[in-house]
Amino acid sequence: MSLRDDLIARISQSGPISLATYMAEALLHPTKGYYTTRDPLGTSGDFTTAPEISQMFGELIGLCLAQTWLDQGAPDRFTLAELGPGRGTLMADILRATRSVPGFHAAAHVTLLEASPVLRAQQAATLAGSNPAWHRSVTDLPDGPLWLVANEFFDALPIHQFARAGHGWRERYVGVNDGALTLGLGAPAPQAALARRMDDTNDGDIVETCPAAISVLQEVSGRIAIHGGAALIIDYGDWRSLGDTLQAVQDHTPVDPFATPGQADLTAHVDFEALAGAAAPAAHSRVTPQGVFLERLGITARAQALAQNLNGEALDAHIAAHRRLTHPEEMGNLFKVLGLFPADAAPPPGLNT
Ligand code: SAH
Repeated sequence: MSLRDDLIARISQSGPISLATYMAEALLHPTKGYYTTRDPLGTSGDFTTAPEISQMFGELIGLCLAQTWLDQGAPDRFTLAELGPGRGTLMADILRATRSVPGFHAAAHVTLLEASPVLRAQQAATLAGSNPAWHRSVTDLPDGPLWLVANEFFDALPIHQFARAGHGWRERYVGVNDGALTLGLGAPAPQAALARRMDDTNDGDIVETCPAAISVLQEVSGRIAIHGGAALIIDYGDWRSLGDTLQAVQDHTPVDPFATPGQADLTAHVDFEALAGAAAPAAHSRVTPQGVFLERLGITARAQALAQNLNGEALDAHIAAHRRLTHPEEMGNLFKVLGLFPADAAPPPGLNT
């Protein structure tokens, strides 16, 4: 039975489910979830990501993390963590770029947070030799200094959607209509988490919350504030999201998010204002466009150095990849970077407060 049929049967029996429950089932159902059953990345998959586009992305992130480690006195043992590492490409590029930073590898304990058994196996192959540890939840991260990166992880966390109704909000639920999964509205109710949105919304406007993202962020920022470290959170979204940003992608093409649960990637824009608001007791940087961040870290110089050894199609692909990561009309502006760091430390290179 398909996951769609499972969900229709469940909803018909016990009533509509929240969008967050739907997203969690579609992405991470133990046997029929999107991530649990496949490697979705790359040109033959459903979508691609910055580390899969060019090695320069991971190299610059690696050097940024290593510089903050040096700035904070180079602690001799720390957790080097990645949330949702995909194929392990970003971590492999981070490790290669930091090989010549004295003491960094000896001090780093590579730790990966991954829900998908398929991707865990892929990461084990890519990162063989680095002896990574895997965890299922950020609460399992060891207490101690933490350097962490998350690229396109927060966009996969389950969201709730609410429609403004006077002074209250009606949550959007997934129900069944004419044998199809469809969205409906719950009864109006106050939502404490949305008090700040009373000023910038009108009746009928849709806003989104992501409680799972707030919990993850608080676990990470608590460790960084107490033990030292830094986090780089890279994702698409903006300072404050408004409207329905849920999207489904299959085979690099947008599809209906409710047509084929478990077969399409589901994501929503990250609300960086909500993440920054949960950063205390750690400090947070300004939300910075990916293109600006990578330019400040020196991507153009790195691109020119790599270009020296390339020609023909490989050179064209390299130039296109540089543009894709940084140009405002490509990923440069849509993707943002938020840095977390201890309140008494400097922000990571490329970011400011
Ligand atoms: N960071 C990678 C992959 C992004 S895809 C890259 O940039 O290429 C999203 C990743 O997050 C996948 O590895 C997916 O399996 C993982 N993931 C999604 N939800 C998760 C959750 N709740 N817990 C742990 N991992 C999760």
